[in-house]
Parts: sequence; structure tokens; C-alpha cells
Amino acid sequence: MDQLLTQANHIIRKNRPLDKTPVIITFRRDRFLQLTLQTSGCRYSEAGSCCMCNYGKGTTPNVQDIKTAMDQICSSRDFIESDQVLLGASGSFLDDYEVSEEIQFYMMQRLSQSDKKEIFLETHYKSINQAKLTKIHKLFPDQIVHIEMGLETVTKELQEKVLNKEILLEELKKTIAQIHHAGLFVSLNILLGIPFLSLNEQISDTIKSIEWSVDNGADYIVIFPINIQPFTLFEWWYLQGYISIISPWMLVELLLHLTDKELKRVCLSWYGNRYITYSEQQKTIVPYSCPVCQPELLSFFNNFSANYNIKYRKQKLQQIYKFPFSCKCRENLHNTLRKKNAPKTSLKSARDDIESWINKYGINRSNL
Ligand SMILES: [Zn+2]
Repeated sequence: MDQLLTQANHIIRKNRPLDKTPVIITFRRDRFLQLTLQTSGCRYSEAGSCCMCNYGKGTTPNVQDIKTAMDQICSSRDFIESDQVLLGASGSFLDDYEVSEEIQFYMMQRLSQSDKKEIFLETHYKSINQAKLTKIHKLFPDQIVHIEMGLETVTKELQEKVLNKEILLEELKKTIAQIHHAGLFVSLNILLGIPFLSLNEQISDTIKSIEWSVDNGADYIVIFPINIQPFTLFEWWYLQGYISIISPWMLVELLLHLTDKELKRVCLSWYGNRYITYSEQQKTIVPYSCPVCQPELLSFFNNFSANYNIKYRKQKLQQIYKFPFSCKCRENLHNTLRKKNAPKTSLKSARDDIESWINKYGINRSNL
């Protein structure tokens, strides 16, 4: 891992308040329901990895509290009306270090006893092994189970120098094969809008990662446009002017560039419909355009993500692309893309700035 980014992540996370939210946080979009288990935190966050990520840090979950929470959730309207359920955690749901095997098993069992058609388990690829996959397959004989893992980008330099998250592609390939061999499906998460690239490069990088995913057998691909999360280095860079808010039109532009094979496998997430809030001053800064086009874009992303029919998707995409908005957001993005402008800010200056910040505060690096 990159030493400088690791140090910065440690310092920034030091002041992060503990989550006081319910033991299981629910998020619903149409017939999709996400259950995020609050844990004592992700092992990669603890190690100083992942400059863009903050899914929180709470306390170690208590089995009885989880049982009570699951009873409430399973009888809720959101649960009854959903047919896809995702189990996630502050980090990785299948990481025994973060979520005990007993709790993993209990929560999965509750879903296996339900009528839900598709189950998603969100976890780091390193938390997966053969024994676990066999157990999961046995638990869900009649349901479709997806293992959802973060790939972010296939570009090694960006993994190392911007995200500080190591994903070894050869290892991930083996994990994908293992998951398929166990009769389960693979979903990969990919970023759009990695900073210090031009807008054209941001789109090309996402396409490159989507191509790799399709070539290597991903059944689904979830696109995450960059959100600026509180208590992250990305937030610090944003406040220093190194990172800008991404336009949701970038997502439309990306979708227009995809082949049919890719388009029918992608889903969108965190496109301006979700927030992590610590206070009014410190919450997620989401992709945003303007009050005129933003509501229509959100509605398009919702509809697109809820329906995988390729004909429907293409039709909706053309509709939003040609919609006569009175604002200039779409044109402004097109103009920038046409000019192929160089990135607005340099990674070198952003890194130099963190270094001086660390030095200015006289932080003893050996204590980090
Ligand atoms: Zn607009």
C-alpha cells in the first residue's frame, strides 16, 4: 500500500465518530432492499486503505440485537415488497474478522427461509474461500445468489496512487471462477469519475474496467459514480479544491458508450440517491447537476436500474439524452469532452499537499 495515503487515511479517520445508527440500516429502491450491518469497522479501513470509502465504524454487533432487528425487518413493508435483498456490512459481510460466522449464517438463513428471488452478499474478494462458497450454495438451493465485490478500477496506478486499494486481478479472476464453480453469480463494483484524470479519461477507465469484468465472467456490474464521503481523504481533497463534484450526465455518457452485452449487465448505485450523514455540515456530497435536470436524471437512473430489459434501457437512455432541458448541463459536459481538456488538478500537487499537511501538524508517523 502507499505509505503517504495510508498515513493520511489514518489521521482523517481518527476523528470519525462511532456510528449510532440502528444495528442494521436499510435502504430501499423499488424492489431492491439493502441491509447494512453495523460492525466495528472494515479491516481495510483500519489498515488505512481506500481513500474514497466510508461505510462507517460502529460497535461489534450483539447476536440478540441482530435477531430482534431481523424480526422487525422481515415483517416490514420494505422487506415484503422487495424481491432482491443485499446483505452488506461496514466493510465485508463475509469477513469472519468483521462479522462472526454465527451472525453471517443467521442473517443468510433468514433470507434463505424467505421468498426473495435474488440475494446479494457484498464482501471483499479476499474474504471468500471454497468452504464458505459451498456452505452458501447449500443454504440457498432455490435462490439466485450473487457475490458482490469491489473492483473499482483495473488500472494499477490508480489503485495504488489515488485509491490506495489493492485488487490483484489474477487473484480476482480465480475467485470469480471459484464462485461460478460453486453455482453462484458474480457482481463487480466499478468507479466512475476517479480524480486527477480528465473527464474523457474517467469514462475510458470505467469502460476498460467494464470490459475486463465482462471478459472475465462478471454476471453483473455495478457502476458507482464518485461520491465524496465524510471522513475520507477524498473529502479532504475536495475541500482543498483537488476534486470536483461529478455530473450525473457522466453516467449517461458512459451508458451511451456501452455495447449491448455490457449495457444489459450494468446497474447503477449511489447516483445521488443516498447519503451518509454525520451532521448537516458533514455528509456525503453526491453527484449533482442542477435543479432543472437533476430530478429527471434521478428518475431515469431509478428506472434504468430496476429493469434489465435491453430494449427498455436503450429507449429510456435515448429519451433522457434527447429530453429538451432548459439548462446547459448536458451541453457543458459535451463541450468539455469534445475539447479533451487535460485534468484540472494534478495528483502530484495533491500528494505534496497532504505531505505538507501531515508535516505541519507534526504528526508522529511512527505512532500511526
Ligand atoms: Zn441541468
